[in-house]
Amino acid sequence: MTTRTAFTVTVNPKIPARLSRLEELASNLWYSWDRGTRNLFSRIDPRLWGAVGHNPKAFLKRVDESLLQKAAEDQTFLASYNSVLSAYDSYHSEPLRYTHFEEFGPRDQVAYFCFEFGFHESLPVYSGGLGILAGDHCKAASDLCLPFVAVGLLYRQGYFFQTIDSLGNQQVSYTDSEFEDLPVEPALNDDGSEIHVQVSLPGRKVMVKVWRATIGHVSLYLLDTDLPENPLKDRMITHQLYGGDRTMRIEQEIILGIGGVTALGEMGIQPTVWHSNEGHAAFMMLERARKLVQQGLDFASAAEAVAVNTVFTTHTAVPAGHDSFSKAMMHDYFASFCQDLKISWEEFMALGHIPGSDDFNMTALAIHLSRTHNGVSKIHGDVSARICRDLWPQIEPEENPMTYITNGVHVPTFLAQEWSDLFDRYLGYEWRNKMCDKDFWLRIDTIPDHLFWSIRQTLKSQMFYGIRARLAEQNARNRGSEAHLDRLLKLVDPINPNVLVLGFARRFATYKRATLLFENLDWLRKILLDTEHPVLLIFAGKAHPADIPGQDLIRKVSYVSRMPEFEGRILLVENYDMRLARRLVAGVDVWLNNPIYPLEASGTSGMKAGINGTLNLSVLDGWWEEGYDGKNGWAVKPASDDTEAVLRDKDESQSFYEILQDQVIPMFYRRGKFGYSSEWVKMAKYSMASLLPRYNAARMVSEYVKKFYGPANKQGMHYAKDAFANAKLIAAWKAKVKSAWKGVSLRRLDTPGKRIDFGETMDFKVAAKLNGLQPEDVIVELLLCRQYKKMRLNSFKHVHFKFAGIDSNGEHLFELNYVPDLCGKQEYYLRIYPYHPLLIHPLEMGRMVWL
Ligand SMILES: *Cc1c(COP(=O)(O)O)cnc(C)c1O
Repeated sequence: MTTRTAFTVTVNPKIPARLSRLEELASNLWYSWDRGTRNLFSRIDPRLWGAVGHNPKAFLKRVDESLLQKAAEDQTFLASYNSVLSAYDSYHSEPLRYTHFEEFGPRDQVAYFCFEFGFHESLPVYSGGLGILAGDHCKAASDLCLPFVAVGLLYRQGYFFQTIDSLGNQQVSYTDSEFEDLPVEPALNDDGSEIHVQVSLPGRKVMVKVWRATIGHVSLYLLDTDLPENPLKDRMITHQLYGGDRTMRIEQEIILGIGGVTALGEMGIQPTVWHSNEGHAAFMMLERARKLVQQGLDFASAAEAVAVNTVFTTHTAVPAGHDSFSKAMMHDYFASFCQDLKISWEEFMALGHIPGSDDFNMTALAIHLSRTHNGVSKIHGDVSARICRDLWPQIEPEENPMTYITNGVHVPTFLAQEWSDLFDRYLGYEWRNKMCDKDFWLRIDTIPDHLFWSIRQTLKSQMFYGIRARLAEQNARNRGSEAHLDRLLKLVDPINPNVLVLGFARRFATYKRATLLFENLDWLRKILLDTEHPVLLIFAGKAHPADIPGQDLIRKVSYVSRMPEFEGRILLVENYDMRLARRLVAGVDVWLNNPIYPLEASGTSGMKAGINGTLNLSVLDGWWEEGYDGKNGWAVKPASDDTEAVLRDKDESQSFYEILQDQVIPMFYRRGKFGYSSEWVKMAKYSMASLLPRYNAARMVSEYVKKFYGPANKQGMHYAKDAFANAKLIAAWKAKVKSAWKGVSLRRLDTPGKRIDFGETMDFKVAAKLNGLQPEDVIVELLLCRQYKKMRLNSFKHVHFKFAGIDSNGEHLFELNYVPDLCGKQEYYLRIYPYHPLLIHPLEMGRMVWL
């Protein structure tokens, strides 16, 4: 054998001058929601476009020169190119910034930190819901011209690719990204040098390179430790999303939180509002506090100054889902950091303390160092308030500061092109600016039924083409025959897409109960095998490689799909990613979701389905509990909390079977003379009209601005001015209250009457021991409500007492004269809690005494 050396050379295509801006289009994730841009690339060479995974930058590096030349001379191509550029330019020249939100001045800016971001399949730094939500948040921030930067990690491998073998085993593979192929570029200093920052880890400093991705008006900075200066161990820190052990996780979170703050500082970016999306990024709050301590502030004041303009969003509905690190590990990584903060180790660990555990909990840290905290749906807000109740020990969860903003999805990303073309025709171009206008969207009803239906059919047919290709590949890899493939694809007919298709696609996490519909296979058989009214059930989703029960679910779906009678009726499609998601949510007829209540924090795939006229059939959990109005889809009421798991699954699956059998299937197949069901179209139109204006990311981000970012921005400045005078003031006040509160008590002096006449006054008088606090440090309050089942405290009337002097033994007297304005039996309570006008939430101290 001869030996030989393989030399390589890469030949870059020369982009014709006429098409020179293709490179700019390829470097701005604007293409992730602008299909016109993506179509330009796919038109030049559809095969290559598929082969590079719809990645414009990778495409431009490999495309055949002759095809580029041809495109540059093709008049119709040039027309599309020009129209894309004109849309691109007008989007980017939009009177930049500060126009939409009076809450933000020219120097204000939100910094948004997240562990993963999902914009498009060409930037594989996401795994699922959380990342895609973060991506949608950035896209909507860009659309709204919000001054906004984002910070994340640039993973070499991102999340894994999934294949499923012939026995239903999930096979996992990873590919290294070539960063030059990704829509990112090194962030540069003014002198053109790359921005690198250092982050301290035990016994060493790690170099971090900063990359920048452009998402319309928004920049996302991605941190990367895979640099030759770093030892291999450190190069691996940003290697894999959700890979590795606890050490890798804490190091990733340190790079993101601490490195992120450092990088923004290095670039001269001075955010005025900081948002930690999930607890992974919460170390950023510590780093900000350290900087303030270095400037001479004490830690308590620094913590107030940091928290006041920090927003924390939690996305998990199970306490075990909240990230935490052992005491020993924290000591390794933060002992010297703690010295920088000039606090004791006990004080430091208390920042991450939750009762019943010695670990350092990232959610606890995030709540301690933020003043705005939220869940991602109404139910999840309540669940989170309960999970985190111990952080405000004397406050009922329903009153504690944990609130919610329901998620939304980025409509231009997830709305199929066919719909946006149709909207242009029937609603006018301005639909893009009417995203949250509920009345406007009722105009969907003016779209002729047959047109509406034909779009639905087109989208289903496109989905069928996609699924056929994927299943063919899957079948060949698993050594299935052609005949077998034909059998599998019998119902997947793009020419006649008339079968009713149900879709279930999401992470295979156990609480999502992918196999709920297999509870009663005989019943399912009856439903799917009806010869006149066939039904096709499509599954897709990944399970985390460490999630064994999740992988068992995949095996079970695969097993049932291979049972002879279900073959071709139940399909399991591999490698659920954004591309497959876009097709499925728009192409299926019914989107199923059946989580265990109340564990679905929000869920967003059902929103994507809803805006595309796909009908939801879901358990009333997460967003659907708010979205469902009785007419825009179907709902399964969850069994009550105390139902045993086995019974609950049985009850709820039964509801699914009944709704499918009695409502969904008959309605779908009640076809009129034009071949579609007008009832179905009516419901789909209404579902779209009712869901689109509410569950879109523009509404979500606007809500964040109005409720959180705006106030945090203002209060942040208020705390910071005059060398942090107010931060110091509130920190000192809190310290005073904390030490005094144990001695605070309340006693009633008036003799309560049991019955009064309408119009009569109730004269309340109480004496409070304030233990050194002043009367203006507290609020004494009456809560009153007509007695009616179990009322939430926020539906009570709240009335404040007035200070009325000090009695002879030093107790403070408070009085209230109150005339009830309602008749009947009423329930009332009296209480006292600490109050200061600088507080962000009146109960943030977590202290309260009830009589
Ligand atoms: C939307 C989306 C998700 C999240 O779906 P849920 O319904 O929230 O579970 C996950 N993965 C992909 C690829 C998505 O597009």
